[in-house]
Amino acid sequence: MGKLDGRVVVVTGAARGQGEQEARLFRAEGAEVVVADVLDEQGAALAKELGARYVHLDVGEEDQWRSAVSTVKDAFGRIDGLVNNAGILRFNSLVDTPLDEFMQVVRVNQVGCFLGIKTVAPVLEDGGTIVNTASYTAVTGMAAVGTYAATKHAILGLTRVAALELAHRGIRVNAMCPGAVDTAMSNPAQLDPTADVEETSRALDELYRKLVPLGRIGKPEEVARLALFLTSDDSSYITGQPFVIDGGWLAGVSVI
Ligand code: NAD
Repeated sequence: MGKLDGRVVVVTGAARGQGEQEARLFRAEGAEVVVADVLDEQGAALAKELGARYVHLDVGEEDQWRSAVSTVKDAFGRIDGLVNNAGILRFNSLVDTPLDEFMQVVRVNQVGCFLGIKTVAPVLEDGGTIVNTASYTAVTGMAAVGTYAATKHAILGLTRVAALELAHRGIRVNAMCPGAVDTAMSNPAQLDPTADVEETSRALDELYRKLVPLGRIGKPEEVARLALFLTSDDSSYITGQPFVIDGGWLAGVSVI
């Protein structure tokens, strides 16, 4: 028995990183999984490997959400879960951030999450789940990622309001707030075929050994397990909440 037997779950930004691990774990737990991304080749290859379905979906485009939802309904007849995982990061101080860059991040992270809720919730089965991927920068500040942090704070607002508005149908909406996770976002060397990724991962571990109480960067598989918890009946009485998964980084400041 899998924890998601008989459920149909859409994961955005699932071609790689945390979304890929969520797709893998959900499939292993019995779900029909829809891999949605803009990276068509990578996403389709992953879907083929998993026996999942791939749909092209730019999460910032409402018409693409509508068409993705109708493709999924035609294929499976139902949708039980959504993981709004797609996201982008840009580094800049607020005063140096061009408006275009600010709007680009808002479009993917914040509008993408909003459109996911708006388009999928009306057709989600009663008792379904939505998991929004925020960040620990949703609950604290971080210099040089102001736009990203603003969108991730906004995702918590969307999460709480959606939880209130959908609870009468038994639909639960929660948010994950990962700290640093070893994916292409934190470790761009993963996208460079000439890079020594083991070496850059080791360097990141070294950095986070000093910053994070558990002494290492997080793994995408660990975030996937939280997504599974929030998508399965294991979290049946939990809605509207942010879940920090950060190796203890936000627990406090150490002076020794
Ligand atoms: P990643 O860059 O490996 O994955 C992001 C995925 O989103 C990619 O597959 C990308 O193609 C997809 N994507 C980007 N724009 C899209 C769009 N417009 N429409 C659809 N898909 C799009 O990074 P990741 O770490 O796996 O990121 C997953 C989520 O986790 C993001 O929301 C990110 O903000 C969040 N997060 C990451 C970290 C970290 O340290 N890696 C920490 C906290 C939160």
